[in-house]
Amino acid sequence: MKKRLFIKTYGCQMNVYDSARIAELLTPLGYEAATGPEGADLVILNTCHIRDKAVEKMFSELGTIRRLKHAQERHGGRMVVAVGGCVAQAEGAEILERAPFVDIVFGPQAYHRLPEMVARAATERVLDTSFPAEPKFDYLPETSATPGVSAFLAVQEGCDKFCTFCVVPYTRGAEYSRPAAEIIAEARRLADSGAREITLLGQNVNAYHGLSPKGGVWGLGELIGALAGIPGLARLRYTTSHPKDVDDALIAAHRDIAELMPYLHLPVQSGSDRVLAAMNRRHTADQYRRTVERLRRARPDIALSSDFIVGFPGESEADFRATTDLVRDIGFAQAFSFKYSPRPGTPAANAADQIPEPVKADRLAILQALLHEQQQAFNQACVGEVLPVLFEKPGRHPGQLVGRSPYLQSIHAEAPAERIGDIVPLTIRAALPNSLAGAIAPQSPSLDGVAA
Ligand code: SAM
Ligand code: SF4
Repeated sequence: MKKRLFIKTYGCQMNVYDSARIAELLTPLGYEAATGPEGADLVILNTCHIRDKAVEKMFSELGTIRRLKHAQERHGGRMVVAVGGCVAQAEGAEILERAPFVDIVFGPQAYHRLPEMVARAATERVLDTSFPAEPKFDYLPETSATPGVSAFLAVQEGCDKFCTFCVVPYTRGAEYSRPAAEIIAEARRLADSGAREITLLGQNVNAYHGLSPKGGVWGLGELIGALAGIPGLARLRYTTSHPKDVDDALIAAHRDIAELMPYLHLPVQSGSDRVLAAMNRRHTADQYRRTVERLRRARPDIALSSDFIVGFPGESEADFRATTDLVRDIGFAQAFSFKYSPRPGTPAANAADQIPEPVKADRLAILQALLHEQQQAFNQACVGEVLPVLFEKPGRHPGQLVGRSPYLQSIHAEAPAERIGDIVPLTIRAALPNSLAGAIAPQSPSLDGVAA
């Protein structure tokens, strides 16, 4: 008999990927996707712990789930409630204690054991936040679901860098790179099932150093080179990168591999060397500038994106000015910026010189205004250009499709549904606040088969 599974995913693309793998793992047990938690046999919250009030948000969501679970029980049904992801890893038994209706708590490195945990949950409450000796990828079934035009593929996981603000090394564990042969096989399966674009994922994706098919070690540049030849795959991307791990092979890949899109999310966090050192980022602002120069020499149209943290403990006005100076020097096509959020258990959370909230808010507003201006300028400069757009799905209005430019801009245009999955040249007509509007360029019918 079919059972209904609802997964709510918070946070990064890695969690999106994990949720898809969890759904695949549970399919042989008879679970199929439900669109909401009401009436579900199994509800999984795949949580994120990176910022803000992650724990409070999770308990508030659990409050809603508890009411649904009790309503189901009154009608003779049963809802198994599981909490996974990074909050589960960090809070562990505390969740079982505070939320007696939660049946399973599992960490990001334990989800391959979910079928067993679900079976055990019939008679006991389950906690599994261990880091296994063997990587979980060895125990996951092959990807089977239809991936869509643009798919994620995890190539690396965990982090050994221990930036002083970040929980990832504690929640995701040590850095691990999947063997290249396994990744190539997964990429082929995705392409065979219709994926035209793959985004390689990792908490530190460019720290990738996996076993090559011939027994040596490949970095990310070499891996991208091997994936580029897969029939059907037109575009490759990767995220998230660390500035210190941008090596010569990766820069050469941006120069030589047409399938590798000219877009890079390269978080810098701050433009102040003092703050970067206190964050344990292992590079200076000028080293970041030089890396960007090298990337731009290799691929002149590369569009850059970044992450910024304002109000890190001890950040002075001069430190903050160094960040806005760096933003002006580089010129970003888009970016994410956050107020520093103390994460329990990380070194910076205990620093004495925490920055008051109103100061953080002021700095964030200034930085976001500057980044927004740059994003608008970047998008505006595309108006009148013809860009190759990979159509991914229907748009909000009838007759419309939405796709991505090489620079990851979201673009909508009028086009028939059968063009989903095609790379089509679009003339950019307008730059809207978060997207571009385009129209199919008259001169060329399709760029399909051309890496664009
Ligand atoms: N590995 C990536 C790197 O080194 O740049 C970052 C991964 S982290 C999941 C994504 C972003 O969240 C970071 O780049 C940082 O800007 C932000 N972040 C992480 N911890 C934070 C904290 N405690 N407060 C505010 N932002 C934080
Ligand atoms: Fe977190 Fe990225 Fe630093 Fe690793 S490199 S500790 S994931 S911010």
